[in-house]
Amino acid sequence: MPAKMQGEIHPHTYRFKLGGFEVTTIVDSTAVRSGLTPAFGGEANADAVKALAKANRIDTDRYEHNFTPLLVNTGKELVLFDTGNGSLREEHEQLKNRLPAGNLVARMGEAGYKPEDVDVVVITHGHPDHIGGLTKRGEPVFPNARYVFGATDFDYWNKGENIREARKFNRELYVKIMVPLANRATMIKPGDEVVPGVRAVDAFGHSAGLLAFTIESEGKRMINWADTCNHYVAAIQRPELHLDVDDDKEKAAATRKRILEMCDKEDLLVAGFHMPSPGIGYIEKGKDGIYRWVPHSYQMSL
Ligand SMILES: [Zn+2]
Repeated sequence: MPAKMQGEIHPHTYRFKLGGFEVTTIVDSTAVRSGLTPAFGGEANADAVKALAKANRIDTDRYEHNFTPLLVNTGKELVLFDTGNGSLREEHEQLKNRLPAGNLVARMGEAGYKPEDVDVVVITHGHPDHIGGLTKRGEPVFPNARYVFGATDFDYWNKGENIREARKFNRELYVKIMVPLANRATMIKPGDEVVPGVRAVDAFGHSAGLLAFTIESEGKRMINWADTCNHYVAAIQRPELHLDVDDDKEKAAATRKRILEMCDKEDLLVAGFHMPSPGIGYIEKGKDGIYRWVPHSYQMSL
Protein backbone atom coordinates (compact mmCIF):
# COMPACT_ATOMS: atom_id res chain seq x y z
CA MET A 1 0.00 0.00 0.00
CA PRO A 2 1.41 3.39 -0.91
CA ALA A 3 1.40 5.90 1.94
CA LYS A 4 -1.67 8.09 1.85
CA MET A 5 -1.57 11.81 1.09
CA GLN A 6 -1.72 13.71 4.38
CA GLY A 7 -2.27 17.27 3.18
CA GLU A 8 -0.08 20.29 3.80
CA ILE A 9 1.52 20.83 7.16
CA HIS A 10 2.71 24.26 8.33
CA PRO A 11 4.30 24.92 11.70
CA HIS A 12 2.47 27.56 13.80
CA THR A 13 4.98 28.36 16.48
CA TYR A 14 8.66 29.26 16.62
CA ARG A 15 10.64 30.05 19.76
CA PHE A 16 14.12 31.43 20.28
CA LYS A 17 16.20 33.12 22.95
CA LEU A 18 16.93 36.84 22.89
CA GLY A 19 19.50 37.31 25.65
CA GLY A 20 17.63 36.34 28.81
CA PHE A 21 14.21 36.52 27.14
CA GLU A 22 12.31 33.81 25.33
CA VAL A 23 10.44 34.99 22.26
CA THR A 24 7.71 32.96 20.55
CA THR A 25 5.98 33.82 17.29
CA ILE A 26 2.55 32.26 16.93
CA VAL A 27 0.67 32.16 13.63
CA ASP A 28 -2.90 32.78 14.79
CA SER A 29 -4.31 32.27 11.30
CA THR A 30 -3.58 32.60 7.60
CA ALA A 31 -5.61 34.09 4.76
CA VAL A 32 -4.92 33.61 1.07
CA ARG A 33 -5.99 36.82 -0.63
CA SER A 34 -6.19 37.85 -4.23
CA GLY A 35 -5.37 41.33 -5.45
CA LEU A 36 -1.73 41.94 -4.50
CA THR A 37 -2.35 44.69 -6.96
CA PRO A 38 -4.23 47.03 -6.62
CA ALA A 39 -3.95 46.54 -2.80
CA PHE A 40 -0.29 47.59 -2.98
CA GLY A 41 0.27 50.65 -5.15
CA GLY A 42 -3.21 51.05 -6.66
CA GLU A 43 -4.09 50.66 -10.35
CA ALA A 44 -1.38 53.12 -11.39
CA ASN A 45 1.36 50.71 -10.28
CA ALA A 46 -0.32 47.44 -11.29
CA ASP A 47 2.25 46.52 -13.94
CA ALA A 48 5.18 47.43 -11.72
CA VAL A 49 3.87 45.37 -8.79
CA LYS A 50 3.18 42.37 -11.04
CA ALA A 51 6.73 42.61 -12.41
CA LEU A 52 8.07 42.85 -8.87
CA ALA A 53 6.13 39.74 -7.85
CA LYS A 54 7.44 37.85 -10.86
CA ALA A 55 11.02 38.89 -10.20
CA ASN A 56 10.63 37.59 -6.63
CA ARG A 57 9.06 34.32 -7.81
CA ILE A 58 5.70 34.79 -6.13
CA ASP A 59 2.22 34.75 -7.63
CA THR A 60 1.34 38.06 -9.30
CA ASP A 61 -2.19 38.09 -7.85
CA ARG A 62 -2.73 35.77 -4.84
CA TYR A 63 -0.72 36.18 -1.68
CA GLU A 64 -0.48 34.57 1.72
CA HIS A 65 -1.30 36.86 4.61
CA ASN A 66 -0.35 35.53 8.03
CA PHE A 67 -1.50 36.97 11.35
CA THR A 68 1.32 36.51 13.86
CA PRO A 69 1.10 37.65 17.48
CA LEU A 70 4.35 37.67 19.46
CA LEU A 71 4.87 36.37 22.98
CA VAL A 72 7.85 37.55 25.04
CA ASN A 73 8.76 35.92 28.34
CA THR A 74 11.08 38.34 30.11
CA GLY A 75 11.58 35.92 33.01
CA LYS A 76 9.44 38.23 35.14
CA GLU A 77 6.40 38.73 32.93
CA LEU A 78 4.79 37.09 29.93
CA VAL A 79 4.00 39.81 27.41
CA LEU A 80 1.70 39.20 24.44
CA PHE A 81 1.77 41.60 21.49
CA ASP A 82 -1.57 41.58 19.62
CA THR A 83 -4.22 38.91 19.69
CA GLY A 84 -5.13 37.87 16.14
CA ASN A 85 -8.62 37.39 14.75
CA GLY A 86 -10.23 35.58 17.69
CA SER A 87 -13.90 34.81 17.12
CA LEU A 88 -14.67 37.95 15.08
CA ARG A 89 -15.66 35.83 12.12
CA GLU A 90 -18.36 33.92 14.01
CA GLU A 91 -19.54 36.96 15.97
CA HIS A 92 -19.84 39.42 13.06
CA GLU A 93 -21.58 38.64 9.78
CA GLN A 94 -19.67 41.51 8.06
CA LEU A 95 -16.33 39.80 8.64
CA LYS A 96 -17.30 36.28 7.53
CA ASN A 97 -15.58 36.49 4.19
CA ARG A 98 -12.82 38.84 5.23
CA LEU A 99 -11.01 37.28 8.17
CA PRO A 100 -10.03 33.71 9.02
CA ALA A 101 -10.94 32.25 12.41
CA GLY A 102 -8.33 32.91 15.09
CA ASN A 103 -6.42 30.07 16.75
CA LEU A 104 -4.14 31.96 19.11
CA VAL A 105 -5.20 30.30 22.36
CA ALA A 106 -4.99 26.76 20.94
CA ARG A 107 -1.62 27.41 19.38
CA MET A 108 -0.27 29.10 22.52
CA GLY A 109 -1.24 25.82 24.18
CA GLU A 110 0.93 23.92 21.68
CA ALA A 111 3.81 26.18 22.79
CA GLY A 112 3.15 25.54 26.49
CA TYR A 113 1.19 28.65 27.55
CA LYS A 114 -2.31 29.09 28.94
CA PRO A 115 -4.31 32.33 28.58
CA GLU A 116 -4.06 32.79 32.38
CA ASP A 117 -0.26 32.89 32.09
CA VAL A 118 -0.28 36.18 30.17
CA ASP A 119 0.64 39.14 32.42
CA VAL A 120 0.55 41.95 29.87
CA VAL A 121 -1.28 42.31 26.55
CA VAL A 122 0.15 45.04 24.33
CA ILE A 123 -2.00 46.24 21.42
CA THR A 124 0.05 47.79 18.61
CA HIS A 125 -3.04 49.37 16.99
CA GLY A 126 -6.79 49.03 16.77
CA HIS A 127 -7.35 47.12 13.54
CA PRO A 128 -9.60 44.03 13.81
CA ASP A 129 -6.90 41.40 13.26
CA HIS A 130 -4.94 42.77 16.25
CA ILE A 131 -7.75 43.28 18.78
CA GLY A 132 -10.05 40.43 17.71
CA GLY A 133 -8.65 37.88 20.16
CA LEU A 134 -8.86 40.12 23.24
CA THR A 135 -12.41 39.10 24.08
CA LYS A 136 -14.73 36.25 23.28
CA ARG A 137 -18.44 37.11 23.40
CA GLY A 138 -17.60 40.11 25.54
CA GLU A 139 -15.43 38.23 28.06
CA PRO A 140 -11.68 38.90 28.35
CA VAL A 141 -9.66 35.98 26.94
CA PHE A 142 -6.59 36.73 29.10
CA PRO A 143 -8.13 36.95 32.57
CA ASN A 144 -5.02 37.94 34.55
CA ALA A 145 -3.54 40.42 32.12
CA ARG A 146 -3.16 44.14 32.36
CA TYR A 147 -3.24 46.01 29.06
CA VAL A 148 -1.01 48.44 27.27
CA PHE A 149 -2.64 50.56 24.54
CA GLY A 150 -1.21 53.35 22.40
CA ALA A 151 -2.58 56.69 23.63
CA THR A 152 -2.80 58.24 20.15
CA ASP A 153 -4.52 55.21 18.65
CA PHE A 154 -6.94 55.01 21.57
CA ASP A 155 -7.90 58.69 21.26
CA TYR A 156 -8.35 58.38 17.51
CA TRP A 157 -10.72 55.41 17.63
CA ASN A 158 -12.47 56.48 20.83
CA LYS A 159 -13.26 59.98 19.54
CA GLY A 160 -14.27 58.59 16.17
CA GLU A 161 -13.68 61.79 14.20
CA ASN A 162 -12.59 61.67 10.53
CA ILE A 163 -12.91 57.89 10.32
CA ARG A 164 -12.88 56.92 6.66
CA GLU A 165 -15.82 54.93 5.31
CA ALA A 166 -13.86 51.66 5.06
CA ARG A 167 -13.00 51.88 8.79
CA LYS A 168 -16.47 52.70 10.18
CA PHE A 169 -17.16 49.11 11.22
CA ASN A 170 -13.61 48.89 12.60
CA ARG A 171 -14.47 51.85 14.83
CA GLU A 172 -17.60 50.05 16.11
CA LEU A 173 -15.45 47.04 16.93
CA TYR A 174 -12.88 49.18 18.71
CA VAL A 175 -15.52 50.77 20.89
CA LYS A 176 -17.01 47.38 21.69
CA ILE A 177 -13.74 45.54 22.44
CA MET A 178 -11.18 48.10 23.58
CA VAL A 179 -13.11 50.84 25.38
CA PRO A 180 -14.47 48.53 28.15
CA LEU A 181 -10.88 47.39 28.85
CA ALA A 182 -9.47 50.91 29.08
CA ASN A 183 -9.76 51.04 32.88
CA ARG A 184 -7.20 48.21 33.08
CA ALA A 185 -4.94 49.75 30.42
CA THR A 186 -1.83 51.89 30.56
CA MET A 187 -1.84 54.40 27.69
CA ILE A 188 1.62 54.84 26.22
CA LYS A 189 3.43 57.10 23.76
CA PRO A 190 6.46 56.47 21.52
CA GLY A 191 9.58 56.26 23.68
CA ASP A 192 7.74 54.86 26.70
CA GLU A 193 8.89 51.65 28.35
CA VAL A 194 6.34 48.81 28.52
CA VAL A 195 8.35 46.50 30.79
CA PRO A 196 12.14 46.62 31.29
CA GLY A 197 13.72 45.97 27.87
CA VAL A 198 10.61 46.76 25.80
CA ARG A 199 10.11 50.27 24.43
CA ALA A 200 7.54 51.80 22.07
CA VAL A 201 8.58 53.28 18.71
CA ASP A 202 6.53 55.73 16.63
CA ALA A 203 5.15 53.82 13.62
CA PHE A 204 2.14 56.12 13.03
CA GLY A 205 0.51 55.94 9.60
CA HIS A 206 -0.90 52.49 8.88
CA SER A 207 -3.16 53.29 11.83
CA ALA A 208 -3.30 56.75 13.42
CA GLY A 209 -1.15 55.64 16.35
CA LEU A 210 0.50 52.38 15.30
CA LEU A 211 3.34 51.47 17.66
CA ALA A 212 6.35 49.28 16.97
CA PHE A 213 8.46 47.98 19.85
CA THR A 214 12.15 47.40 20.41
CA ILE A 215 12.85 44.38 22.60
CA GLU A 216 16.25 44.11 24.24
CA SER A 217 17.92 41.75 26.67
CA GLU A 218 21.57 41.26 27.59
CA GLY A 219 22.73 43.26 24.56
CA LYS A 220 20.55 41.39 22.05
CA ARG A 221 18.03 43.59 20.31
CA MET A 222 15.08 43.15 17.97
CA ILE A 223 12.05 45.08 16.78
CA ASN A 224 8.43 44.05 16.54
CA TRP A 225 7.30 46.33 13.72
CA ALA A 226 3.69 45.06 13.77
CA ASP A 227 2.06 46.41 10.54
CA THR A 228 4.76 48.82 9.42
CA CYS A 229 5.22 46.64 6.30
CA ASN A 230 2.39 44.33 5.31
CA HIS A 231 3.96 42.36 2.48
CA TYR A 232 7.50 41.04 2.47
CA VAL A 233 8.13 42.02 -1.16
CA ALA A 234 5.80 44.87 -2.18
CA ALA A 235 5.91 46.92 1.03
CA ILE A 236 9.65 46.46 1.63
CA GLN A 237 11.11 46.77 -1.86
CA ARG A 238 8.68 49.61 -2.73
CA PRO A 239 7.93 51.24 0.67
CA GLU A 240 6.64 54.42 -1.01
CA LEU A 241 3.69 52.59 -2.60
CA HIS A 242 0.37 53.38 -0.98
CA LEU A 243 -1.46 50.46 0.61
CA ASP A 244 -5.27 50.31 0.60
CA VAL A 245 -5.48 49.39 4.31
CA ASP A 246 -3.15 52.20 5.47
CA ASP A 247 -5.25 54.87 7.20
CA ASP A 248 -2.80 57.73 6.53
CA LYS A 249 -1.07 56.68 3.33
CA GLU A 250 1.66 59.34 3.10
CA LYS A 251 2.60 58.99 6.75
CA ALA A 252 2.62 55.18 6.51
CA ALA A 253 5.02 55.35 3.54
CA ALA A 254 7.36 57.75 5.37
CA THR A 255 7.27 55.52 8.45
CA ARG A 256 8.12 52.44 6.37
CA LYS A 257 11.21 54.13 4.98
CA ARG A 258 12.34 55.36 8.41
CA ILE A 259 11.89 51.99 10.10
CA LEU A 260 13.42 50.01 7.22
CA GLU A 261 16.48 52.22 7.46
CA MET A 262 16.62 51.70 11.22
CA CYS A 263 16.37 47.91 10.82
CA ASP A 264 19.17 47.84 8.25
CA LYS A 265 21.50 50.27 10.05
CA GLU A 266 21.02 48.74 13.49
CA ASP A 267 21.10 45.16 12.17
CA LEU A 268 17.86 44.36 13.98
CA LEU A 269 16.05 41.07 13.96
CA VAL A 270 12.53 41.96 12.82
CA ALA A 271 9.28 40.32 13.88
CA GLY A 272 6.42 41.36 11.59
CA PHE A 273 2.78 40.49 12.19
CA HIS A 274 2.07 39.89 8.49
CA MET A 275 5.47 38.55 7.40
CA PRO A 276 5.84 34.99 6.07
CA SER A 277 5.90 32.28 8.74
CA PRO A 278 7.52 32.19 11.26
CA GLY A 279 7.41 35.96 10.94
CA ILE A 280 11.04 36.86 11.61
CA GLY A 281 13.84 38.12 9.39
CA TYR A 282 16.28 40.91 8.65
CA ILE A 283 16.31 43.95 6.39
CA GLU A 284 19.15 44.28 3.94
CA LYS A 285 19.75 47.34 1.79
CA GLY A 286 21.18 46.33 -1.58
CA LYS A 287 23.78 48.22 -3.59
CA ASP A 288 20.83 49.32 -5.73
CA GLY A 289 19.38 51.09 -2.67
CA ILE A 290 16.48 48.64 -2.46
CA TYR A 291 15.51 47.09 0.87
CA ARG A 292 14.88 43.35 0.93
CA TRP A 293 13.44 40.93 3.49
CA VAL A 294 15.96 38.24 4.41
CA PRO A 295 14.19 35.41 6.25
CA HIS A 296 15.75 34.33 9.52
CA SER A 297 17.69 31.09 9.17
CA TYR A 298 19.68 30.02 12.25
CA GLN A 299 21.02 33.33 13.58
CA MET A 300 18.97 33.09 16.77
CA SER A 301 19.77 29.41 17.34
CA LEU A 302 23.53 29.77 17.80
ZN1 LIG B 1 -2.74 43.82 10.63
